[in-house]
Amino acid sequence: MFGAIEAGGTKFVCAIADEAGIICREERFETTDPDTTLGRVLAFLRQARSQFGALDALGLASFGPVELRPGSPRFGCIGGTPKPGWSSTDILGALGSEFGGPIGFDTDVNAAALAEHRWGAARDVRDLVYLTVGTGIGGGVIVDGTPIHGLMHPEIGHVFPRRHPLDVEFRGVCPFHHDCIEGVAAGPAIIARSGAPLSALRHDHPQWEIEADYLGQLCAQLVLTLSPQRIVLGGGVMAQTRLFPLIRGAMTSWLGGYIDRYELRDGLDQYVVPPELADQAGVRGAVALAMDAARAAGNATAI
Ligand code: ZN
Repeated sequence: MFGAIEAGGTKFVCAIADEAGIICREERFETTDPDTTLGRVLAFLRQARSQFGALDALGLASFGPVELRPGSPRFGCIGGTPKPGWSSTDILGALGSEFGGPIGFDTDVNAAALAEHRWGAARDVRDLVYLTVGTGIGGGVIVDGTPIHGLMHPEIGHVFPRRHPLDVEFRGVCPFHHDCIEGVAAGPAIIARSGAPLSALRHDHPQWEIEADYLGQLCAQLVLTLSPQRIVLGGGVMAQTRLFPLIRGAMTSWLGGYIDRYELRDGLDQYVVPPELADQAGVRGAVALAMDAARAAGNATAI
């Protein structure tokens, strides 16, 4: 059995899953201060142990920024975050104090990408990007089945778009860059620009075209830089499913016919797609991290 924790900025999801990755027990609660929240996580794990016996591994998918380098003294710590009380919290250490077995650890968005790769909308490809467009914009990148970390972890939401002609006056809402993609296309940017979320705007409101253009531009840049075999678009903004054809059209326009592949022509509907796991992606990603950690520990023992 595996334990899985999705540590989100607004909610935590704790789960127990079997060897097939099927969740047999789940608990969700609001993210409050670190002591209270992590106390509830530990209580969940203790109760799970009494019900299911010893767990083989844990997976932790955390909101960021987080330190992912195993050699770093701050490995497993949350970095500077506007979330009160959470900056420098050793979230991995809190779990390690309760559980002595292997723990897989990654960002929540990398974990969601992993889950969509293993069980969801990208299970038939090896290289993909998962973008979440909600209160922020985040991106997880899977290359050959494995999440990319590199220097830290990708921060795709903060790349810089070319501004839409109808949007040159808008300053953007990112506190670091103003008009990065997150600053012009995440949920708060839509409200700052148009006074309402997309769901409340008429279909002929220019906000739809602006949003689709920025996200299509981002997808085009991902095609050009990372060459993914699929792009999965999730998050609260993407619940407006009429964005999908608009984004595909904008991406095609930005690519200008330069990349000649079936997936970017007739196969476009299967190239830029919604997620299949919905709000289970994060916690199932944590399950995948636990399974991988158990496998890695097993291999280490074998050596
Ligand atoms: Zn930014």
